[in-house]
Amino acid sequence: MRLIILGGGESGVGAALLGQAKGYDVFLSDRSPLKPTYRDTLTAAGIAFEEGQHTEALIVNATEVVKSPGIPDTVPLVVQLRAQGIPVVSELEFAARYTRAKLIGITGSNGKTTTTLLIYHLLKTAGLNVGLAGNIGESFAKQVIQDTFDYFVLEISSFQLDGMYKARLDTAILLNITPDHLDRYGYDFDQYVASKFRITQNQRPEDTFIYFLENAPTVGQLAQRPAVAQALPISLEMPVSPGGYAIDGKLTTHFGDQMYTDTLAELPLKGPHNALNMLAAILAAQSVGVPEEAIAVGLRSFKNAAHRMEPVATINGVQFINDSKATNVDSVFYALSSMTAPTVWIAGGQDKGNDYSQLDAVVAQHVKALVCLGKDNQKLIDYFSGRIATITDTHSVEEAVQQATALAQPGDVVLLSPACASFDLFKNYEDRGEQFKKVVSGER
Ligand code: ADP
Repeated sequence: MRLIILGGGESGVGAALLGQAKGYDVFLSDRSPLKPTYRDTLTAAGIAFEEGQHTEALIVNATEVVKSPGIPDTVPLVVQLRAQGIPVVSELEFAARYTRAKLIGITGSNGKTTTTLLIYHLLKTAGLNVGLAGNIGESFAKQVIQDTFDYFVLEISSFQLDGMYKARLDTAILLNITPDHLDRYGYDFDQYVASKFRITQNQRPEDTFIYFLENAPTVGQLAQRPAVAQALPISLEMPVSPGGYAIDGKLTTHFGDQMYTDTLAELPLKGPHNALNMLAAILAAQSVGVPEEAIAVGLRSFKNAAHRMEPVATINGVQFINDSKATNVDSVFYALSSMTAPTVWIAGGQDKGNDYSQLDAVVAQHVKALVCLGKDNQKLIDYFSGRIATITDTHSVEEAVQQATALAQPGDVVLLSPACASFDLFKNYEDRGEQFKKVVSGER
């Protein structure tokens, strides 16, 4: 049994180690150089690998291939493997075969990380023996070698889902589907929707499926193909039971004979998007029996990952917020919707085919000035001219923060929420957010 791993990142190296532990003859191939720590890990484990190239002859004799989510399905080698009838799967698919844990999986265009971390935190708070994996931290495959957990909370991207066939989630969450990553789906939104819905495949009636009732693509798809699992809607507009809703400053969930209710103002996660994330997380926690008291404590003690509506500082009465992870228009929609003060909005970067018209109403309501921060700001300037009174064109974080500070009055908010990828001026969104925090705090 020859297991070939394409891609030597966290998930690929984890899959190699798991494959070896399960008795496969493993070979890992990466077109780029490996990180030194991964090279050391493979060498120490005695796993054969190559880097800087894919040697076809060493790959096409595979029994099965585990492909990194970063490698598109359209690359010739992958097309060839599939044409030969060799199964090409993702690390999550491969690793799911070897765990006895119950699986809670989260996907969506936005909110995955926040919701995944929150569910993990709620289960931990309840004292459950739970692991965290997927797009976060240590690979699922590596953790499954010991398989010591009773539950896993998995953040699942659409690229991981594309390589999933038989894996079954006890609790599946689809937060929302909005246009993103369309370059990987032949600019076909339906294909992207289909990819997200793979989160429900193989579910059984005793399983749980949590989805957002006001997301048209999700509901449209469900109308054609109803969920097999118990479907629990979450809503910002109407009471639903079973399911969850956030209306009039309160959130409420009903699951079986469990019920939970809380006051949004008392909870650290702010904004309508986070109300949704909390509803999904509470229902997921209830689906594995987390009691009410642990949910109340967990929601209050949760601290989100950096770069997601992260308060940085208040200087001369102006609050600075870092939402560098907002790399698409939908996440900016929610960021601006949660503003309660006049906002100087810093946006821009690498455009992903953005349509800004979704923002018209929230921009009119909250934004007093736009500071564009990107290599090429023309599209933003063209769209918002006439819609926002003051627009400035900047090309560095220093310049952007300086302009934003000059435009803000005491009581205003300066919000970095770019709606774009960061790769034009920065290494990644973390780099963009870190630079912003440093400049705001006067460390640079
Ligand atoms: P993901 O892991 O899916 O990228 P994150 O939790 O990292 O999601 O959040 C990414 C961005 O989207 C942040 O700017 C965040 O404020 C925003 N966001 C979080 N949850 C949602 C949601 N449910 N709907 C829309 N935007 C969201």
